[in-house]
Amino acid sequence: MDICPNCTNKLTRKDASYCCYCGQSTCNFNQSFKKVLVRSTYEIFDIDGRVATTLKKLLFSPAFLSIEYSIGKIKSYSPPLRMYLVSSLILFITIELFQSTPNQTFDQVGIFLVPKGILEQLSRIMFVMLPIYACILQFFHQDKRYIYNLIFSLHIHSLSNLLLTSALIAQSLATHDLIIVLASIFLIIYLLVYIIIAMKKFFGKSWMITTVNFLGVYAIYLSSLVFVLEIVLKTKQ
Ligand SMILES: [Zn+2]
Repeated sequence: MDICPNCTNKLTRKDASYCCYCGQSTCNFNQSFKKVLVRSTYEIFDIDGRVATTLKKLLFSPAFLSIEYSIGKIKSYSPPLRMYLVSSLILFITIELFQSTPNQTFDQVGIFLVPKGILEQLSRIMFVMLPIYACILQFFHQDKRYIYNLIFSLHIHSLSNLLLTSALIAQSLATHDLIIVLASIFLIIYLLVYIIIAMKKFFGKSWMITTVNFLGVYAIYLSSLVFVLEIVLKTKQ
């Protein structure tokens, strides 16, 4: 095959796997079913492999994905925005599944009680908080471009979504209150330690400056969150 069937440009190499103009695979379907099946299976598992690697890195290697993205290693991992949207969707479904009885004024999330209505609005609230978080990071780290802080923000919020999902699942499966308390404490400590290590690695400052920046970022972030929550609760009334 010398011509790409999709964009009709001439292929630069006879053995090319993809067209360098439009990116279409040179694999045509005019071959044995077995060959097509093997190749398709390989492609599907390749994608799955990427998702699994990305998830593992997101959960256990603070800032790894954000750093890989900033140095241009993009193709090996799932895109940050897609990961954030998928983790939000998983969280949203979990909230819908494990919601408490409708006549209560509070929802229980681990050891916390949150006013009714917040959980249902959480994905929308977080979508607002995501760029705010990146702005606050920008304020403390003028040397980083905003886009990199936004990628960092997407990764941290994706991780938070997954931890919150685990908290809700643990809570609904727990047979004893002590398990809920221990699971909540573990997840909160995990998140805090993860964020500090991620900030240390991503921004490359000393531990002292990282800790001060962490406290500053979260003081502003939590104040903004309370402000946004108040607006959400007021508009609901
Ligand atoms: Zn082409």
